[in-house]
Amino acid sequence: MRLPKFEHLQPESLEEALDLLSEHGEEVKVIAGGTDLLVSMKQRLLTPRYLLSLKELAELDFIEEDKGRVRIGALTRLTTLIKSPLVQEKFPVLAQVAGYVAAPPLQNMGTLGGNLCLNTRCFFYNQSQFWRQARPLCFKTGGEMCHVVKGGDHCYSVYQGDLAPVLIALEARVKVARKGSEWVIPLLDLYTGRGEEPIALEVGEMLTEVEIPGPAPDCKSGGSSLTTASWGGDYQKLRYRGAMDFPLIGVAAVLHWNGEGCARAKVVLTAVASAPVVVEEASKLLEGQKPDEETIAKVAEAAYEVAHPVANVGSTPLYRRKMVRVMTRRALANAGGRG
Ligand SMILES: Cc1cc2nc3c(=O)[nH]c(=O)nc-3n(C[C@H](O)[C@H](O)[C@H](O)COP(=O)(O)OP(=O)(O)OC[C@H]3O[C@@H](n4cnc5c(N)ncnc54)[C@H](O)[C@@H]3O)c2cc1C
Ligand code: SF4
Repeated sequence: MRLPKFEHLQPESLEEALDLLSEHGEEVKVIAGGTDLLVSMKQRLLTPRYLLSLKELAELDFIEEDKGRVRIGALTRLTTLIKSPLVQEKFPVLAQVAGYVAAPPLQNMGTLGGNLCLNTRCFFYNQSQFWRQARPLCFKTGGEMCHVVKGGDHCYSVYQGDLAPVLIALEARVKVARKGSEWVIPLLDLYTGRGEEPIALEVGEMLTEVEIPGPAPDCKSGGSSLTTASWGGDYQKLRYRGAMDFPLIGVAAVLHWNGEGCARAKVVLTAVASAPVVVEEASKLLEGQKPDEETIAKVAEAAYEVAHPVANVGSTPLYRRKMVRVMTRRALANAGGRG
């Protein structure tokens, strides 16, 4: 499959990139590592007139500690995250999950920003143009029907990014920029939940960095700005081939500990809906507790209740949903191991 024709734009600064994004509007698409975008272009899911490469923007490629938080540039490669001593020390779960994305050659190319801005996926969408032509258009391709949920009134394509659930569990925020302005939003707000248009970026906008706060104030130990001694995290991923596949489901758990027990808790799912799903009940059940098996089983049940996969990315929805329960238990047990 060949790439469609496009013009390559190579800005040398963020300012120039934002100018070009503003100038070319809907005709331009940002390309970072290209590991996802180029596949979609070969499949003619996207045929932008211009590709705006972020490759030369060294100002978006950094990992640094700053006033108690860690800031990571959008162009940071997944391999850099995996190998970063700062990430390994402060957020081992982030290095863990980056190592679960695709396979090492794709981790060498793929970036943090590209991962967070992944389009949603569906067996009826991520196919060649030839394959898709055999069926009528669906909601995601401009039609009026869904091939997966008969009678459905919207697109149920699935958000399958691995990094977002972990970063949402870490309460990360992202910086969005457009020509002349920039602002910070909670990472969760980057996701619309609409399969047709899953990423809440307007024309002319792009992601420039991610910032992760330290542990809850009463969970700091040893006087340092951030420490892993007072919190734990884990990510569990179900996939066909451990060597490279997208998640069939993923569960991230982050628990903050103080002298009394669990001070703050977040459990976030991926690959069960068109956006990452926060298990709100998990925080209520875990916070203020010393989680025992019974509590963990209740949280696993709450995760099962909010997961509603449909049959569009492999395996069966029932199996995937049941595995949410199992993997939530495993993630919590591993995250609690540090308590
Ligand atoms: C075989 C295979 C297996 C894969 N397995 C996984 C997996 O297990 N888990 C997983 O999460 N991903 C997986 N991926 C997807 C992909 O490789 C990774 O998510 C990677 O991190 C994407 O980053 P990228 O820089 O290559 O994104 P790109 O392909 O460059 O971009 C992806 C999307 O993000 C947009 N974008 C990129 N940077 C920005 C920015 N700064 N601001 C705004 N928009 C931006 C692009 O316009 C595009 O829409 C897989 C891909 C392949 C081909
Ligand atoms: S879930 Fe339905 S509407 Fe969405 S991409 Fe798949 S078939 Fe199309």
